[in-house]
Amino acid sequence: MSALAVRRLTKVYPGGLEALKGVDLTVEEGDFFALLGPNGAGKSTLIGIVTSLVNKTAGTVEVFGHDLDRDPEAVKACLGLVPQEFNFNLFLPVIEVVLNQAGYYGISRREARQHAERYLRQLDLWDRRDTEMRRLSGGMKRRLMIARALVHRPRLLILDEPTAGVDIEIRRSMWGFLRQLNREGTTIILTTHYLEEAESLCRNIAIINHGQVTDEAEMGAMLNRL
Ligand code: ADP
Ligand code: ADP
Repeated sequence: MSALAVRRLTKVYPGGLEALKGVDLTVEEGDFFALLGPNGAGKSTLIGIVTSLVNKTAGTVEVFGHDLDRDPEAVKACLGLVPQEFNFNLFLPVIEVVLNQAGYYGISRREARQHAERYLRQLDLWDRRDTEMRRLSGGMKRRLMIARALVHRPRLLILDEPTAGVDIEIRRSMWGFLRQLNREGTTIILTTHYLEEAESLCRNIAIINHGQVTDEAEMGAMLNRL
């Protein structure tokens, strides 16, 4: 089964800008997949549609066989999103940022606490659990957003430009974490405009430009083409 199947996906924003022009994309279960493209290519729009933050104009989206139009709740349960921007809940302590998120998925407080502790420990944030989010560095905030996205144990984790503006050491440790998560079975898709990130992490890659997927291949084959 594929983790994500996008067919002829189109998005026209109010005002007429065509951000996606009939995108076809398949990501297999267990993959670590990169969506690479320059700013304005349509990456955030595509991810926004898959995660129900943006309405599509036409086309279909399936996540683990669940159709987004027919069963949005099933799609939501399968998905975790690490957004690019996170300027909300700044006065909440770290642990509450994660537990609040669990509230959207109807999992018990006890289970939420177990998962929150596990991921905050793995991401080196457990000692900061009582710190308000606004006191964290940029790299810590980003790791917190990963823990938050994982609290309901999604089968597919999507990260929008995960390490933009993060220093090299934090980036390496985030990469290590994501590799391990993928080895444990979570399918991962990340968007990036940074080839080295895609190359270091991902097995398969699609290139998106001006709202169209222009090329898609296994990573090694793509590197020979670029
Ligand atoms: P990327 O994530 O690859 O940088 P985006 O999906 O953010 O690309 O943007 C794709 C195109 O859609 C860009 O031309 C952008 O200006 C436009 N766009 C994005 N969001 C909106 C919006 N809310 N309203 C109108 N145009 C938008
Ligand atoms: P690298 O692959 O770069 O050598 P490591 O695999 O050593 O990196 O781990 C890097 C980071 O991942 C560490 O900061 C660690 O906290 C975190 N990490 C350790 N164990 C796990 C795990 N089981 N799952 C996810 N992340 C982990």
